[in-house]
Amino acid sequence: MALIVQKYGGSSVADTDRIKNVARRIKEYRDQGDQVVVVVSAMKGVTDNLIGLAYDIMPIPTEREMDMLLATGEQTTIALTAMALHAMDIEAVSFTGAQAGIKTDAVHTKAKIQDISPAQIHEALDAGNVVIVAGFQGQTPEGNITTLGRGGSDLSAIALAAAIKADLCQIYTDVDGVYTTDPRVVPDARKLTEIAYDEMLELASLGAKVMQSRSVEFAKKFGVVFEVRSSLNDNPGTIIKEETTDMEGVVVRGASLDKNQAKVTLVAVPDHPGMAARIFKELADAAVNIDMIVQNTSHADEASTDVSFTVEKADLKKAQQLFEGLQSDIGFNEVATDENVAKLSIVGVGMRSHSGIASKMFETLASENVNIGMISTSEIKISVVINLDDSERALKAVHAAFLEDRAFD
Ligand code: ASP
Ligand code: MG
Repeated sequence: MALIVQKYGGSSVADTDRIKNVARRIKEYRDQGDQVVVVVSAMKGVTDNLIGLAYDIMPIPTEREMDMLLATGEQTTIALTAMALHAMDIEAVSFTGAQAGIKTDAVHTKAKIQDISPAQIHEALDAGNVVIVAGFQGQTPEGNITTLGRGGSDLSAIALAAAIKADLCQIYTDVDGVYTTDPRVVPDARKLTEIAYDEMLELASLGAKVMQSRSVEFAKKFGVVFEVRSSLNDNPGTIIKEETTDMEGVVVRGASLDKNQAKVTLVAVPDHPGMAARIFKELADAAVNIDMIVQNTSHADEASTDVSFTVEKADLKKAQQLFEGLQSDIGFNEVATDENVAKLSIVGVGMRSHSGIASKMFETLASENVNIGMISTSEIKISVVINLDDSERALKAVHAAFLEDRAFD
């Protein structure tokens, strides 16, 4: 007998047929004698619809009421899921986040879980129930309903698994697991049997949106091992866990492509102390997140240098206007921008103990005649900025070089 937390996302509970399908899956575990706590999201599209309604009423919806509104999405699903189990003669009880003992701070619409008191969950389990918990919501010490930020049901599930010391935590979604790269771009992409928290976090922040990053961070902090798998088939999913030494045998775990980048170059910035500090303080004050930075060699004759950095496409206009306004003040020649770029990255904890990975990546790109605009590396990641038009071809080549035909994951 195991204590299992299962989380079903919006696509897994998209309509009543899907909810019945979820109930059948829960039954399989119940029939084996397992205790099951189920966390559900709102039915697909429901949260977006509710947000739309709020904005129809007022331009900046009041946040306490927004949470009151959004929490109804998950509340619908818990009741229907419990009913679907009752219809199969399985004892089940639904709980709101508050009833499940999920306590949060009072930062409405993006609250943080502070504590979970699962006494009521344990009582209901011990009485023989499947317990169905509304994801994405909690309650402040004052008793107000809060929500945890978009995609927050993942966090509810991981946090509950930690709080009740579950033997297993399964995150059900509409994909089979975590892939070596986006299968829509690279048909040869393979599903991974396992991936380390840090790799998953890097891939998520690089634009592979399998799961909310905060949930993975939480899982890492509390050592919650979890599996991402599909609710629509019985294929084994991907296990996400702490890295182990044998995982270093795989040098590159995954590759990702982020097309949501743009490049800004300040041409001929005076080459003297304090300039970089000034430039990046201006960006920080304007709340523009920057990713990669490159300072080119000085223009020999003029004692000036080009400074390039990447921002999200959505922030490009803001960054451009900001620096056009500062041109004479800082004293550079021109603001050049390039939206036609993408960031290609490879990730793997094995990079810590292997050398030659960067050169192999650069050689692969060279043989494809892909020009590299910027490079950045960390212990477990290498990223390059390349031309957008080359980017899918480059991803395929890099995937073929590092990620195909491996004996094991
Ligand atoms: N229903 C919420 C959302 O759409 C939470 C979740 O699905 O995880 O963001
Ligand atoms: Mg979701």
